[in-house]
Amino acid sequence: MIELRTPTQIEQMKPAGRFVADVLLALQEKADVGVNLLELDELARQMIKDRGAESCYIDYHPSFGASPFGKVLCTSVNDAVLHGLPHDYELQDGDLLSVDFAASVDGWVSDSALSVVVGTPRQEDLDLIETTTRALEAGVAAARPGNRIGDISAAIASVAHAKGLKINTQFGGHGVGRTMHGDPHVPNDGRAGRGFKLQPGLVIAIEPWFLHTTDEIFTDPDGWTLRSADKSRGAHMEHTVAVTDDGPLVLTQR
Ligand code: MG
Repeated sequence: MIELRTPTQIEQMKPAGRFVADVLLALQEKADVGVNLLELDELARQMIKDRGAESCYIDYHPSFGASPFGKVLCTSVNDAVLHGLPHDYELQDGDLLSVDFAASVDGWVSDSALSVVVGTPRQEDLDLIETTTRALEAGVAAARPGNRIGDISAAIASVAHAKGLKINTQFGGHGVGRTMHGDPHVPNDGRAGRGFKLQPGLVIAIEPWFLHTTDEIFTDPDGWTLRSADKSRGAHMEHTVAVTDDGPLVLTQR
């Protein structure tokens, strides 16, 4: 079921968006060569505690999960692109790190992700992050009343296709509200003019993610981390966005 929020409720969702943005900024600042993924998780955990927020991840246990997630953020490195389970790993020079974080503040959830390179970047990784960022911007720009979900999907896909990237549609954006995942699904590829008609009050996470040279992924033995089939690297950019009469409102703006 697709739920619409009142302007008052969207106002109430802003602190969660602000908090999630602040955590991602802190993680981006902290991520560096030699920093352990578990330290990043600990930083986010401390910020959640200090803010009196609630993690959306720690007890997350979907049907495909081997056990509850147990961490408060996803850290996906290099050929890992989504759902990376933080583990005992020190970031190396040139690693491409994607961090995905969702939390609830005052009963409302926000969800956001970003990719960064630590240390010396490879140009192709910077290009992939740039393309993913532009795809997110294009998707957000299409999130306005009168458009349809397919317009967001098509806008994201056109940016990727222009760069020759393949798109996996197994995982994409989703409704956000009292919980992390709701309707509608927001695929990263689709046909303009199709799907649910966007209305003021719709709040969705828009989250393009792309791999350099494949659209195929597999699940790591840890039961969570999704890796590219050909070891090529991935990038992931996500914002939680409210559709309003005035256009898209990015709740997780950094
Ligand atoms: Mg997310």
